[in-house]
Amino acid sequence: MKMFKKSKPGNHCPYCGGKGYFQLRLGGSETCSCCSGSGKK
Ligand SMILES: [Zn+2]
Repeated sequence: MKMFKKSKPGNHCPYCGGKGYFQLRLGGSETCSCCSGSGKK
């Protein structure tokens, strides 16, 4: 049984971990430039 799906749910951006932003250690957050804040690849 083979299924090929091009759009997987949960295919998140590996750069920010699917959050769409980076948590700064000094406080605050920065929008991920890789996925433009969408959190998806
Ligand atoms: Zn991202």
